[in-house]
Amino acid sequence: MSTILYPSPIVGPIHSRRLGISLGVNVNPSDGKICTFDCIYCEVGYNRNRHTTSPRPTRQHIAAALEEKLKEMKADGSALDVITFSGNGEPTGHPDFLGIVEDTIRLRNVYYPDAKVSVLTNSTLA
Ligand code: SF4
Repeated sequence: MSTILYPSPIVGPIHSRRLGISLGVNVNPSDGKICTFDCIYCEVGYNRNRHTTSPRPTRQHIAAALEEKLKEMKADGSALDVITFSGNGEPTGHPDFLGIVEDTIRLRNVYYPDAKVSVLTNSTLA
């Protein structure tokens, strides 16, 4: 099975059959995977093949990159259904995840108040 690593911290937007037009927020590094599971079907690949050598993006960096992207999309007249935490592994393991979600809701309310915010999680850290 072919696997893929996503950029960090912003992915897309992409069109998701499940969620609609989705802007991804990858709170894990772009050069590897961080997850509490190691699923055989993981599109990011096995943990042993995806060791990271760089740190996770900071809360501040994520907020700045997300705001830049939302501004750009708004200026282009692009639609957005959802901002989705996903990417290279489990998003809730980021030590500032709560603050990152707060920043994301604040920015969503400014630029796309009708968009949802979703988290693709394996729930092991909830
Ligand atoms: S929980 Fe998700 S990210 Fe983690 S190994 Fe499984 S499919 Fe991959």
